[in-house]
Amino acid sequence: MTSLSRAEKLLQSLGITEPSEIDLEAIAWDQGAEVRYRELDGCEARIIGAGEKAIISINSEGHDRRQRFSIGHELGHWCYHRGRSFICRKEDIGNSTYGHFNDPERVADRYAADLLLPLYIFRLITNQYNKPTFDTIISVADLFKVSRTATAIRYAMYGPFPCMLVCHDQNGRKWFRRHPDVPDRLFPNDVLDHESEAFEVVFGDKEKTHRSIIGGDAWFNWHCADRYDVHEETIRISQGQALTLLTWKNEDMLERAMAS
Ligand SMILES: [Zn+2]
Repeated sequence: MTSLSRAEKLLQSLGITEPSEIDLEAIAWDQGAEVRYRELDGCEARIIGAGEKAIISINSEGHDRRQRFSIGHELGHWCYHRGRSFICRKEDIGNSTYGHFNDPERVADRYAADLLLPLYIFRLITNQYNKPTFDTIISVADLFKVSRTATAIRYAMYGPFPCMLVCHDQNGRKWFRRHPDVPDRLFPNDVLDHESEAFEVVFGDKEKTHRSIIGGDAWFNWHCADRYDVHEETIRISQGQALTLLTWKNEDMLERAMAS
């Protein structure tokens, strides 16, 4: 059992046990921060604090799930960087490719993920779904009112099945996340394989693919990868950018890669 993060401890202190109870404005208020929605010029969200009080401003034009993540992100700054003001651009919030691990924007993002998708609730919910698919992820995302991408990252890293989430754009792999049961030796290829159906989502008109089986060497350069199959399923998240969920029918490939 992993220890609770600061965001999760806060949720537990408020008695929160269901996704529907994660009321971010109320949580912010409890923390001394008032949330206001307004037109913001050149940024997505900001926090200005003095003493124990803060005002969080959120772009009123944003999608509601984006706004929720932004409130969580600003509360992350309030928790970890109190005394400093932050003006956060769109690319600062929820951007997996930007900044190093201890960059304040990444720290704030991790806090937001813990607050919006707390593992002590997330694990109970995801254990109720018996298939690692985007249908599962989208259903969980709807319950928590969080983006598909944020939920997919959480699912890949902490869900009940070994899986890997890979993000591609037309220039190649952008980032990936793995479940702890997927060995480091399985490192996803930089370039999308032409045989993968993901290719049609990144470069073509397809919005998504069905879960299908493909040779492991389409995704991994490990020397034994061609002896095994993986399941792949892909959805488009923006023009020319896609998420692929890789899963395994059985764990032979994972065990062999772990041992080699
Ligand atoms: Zn920020």
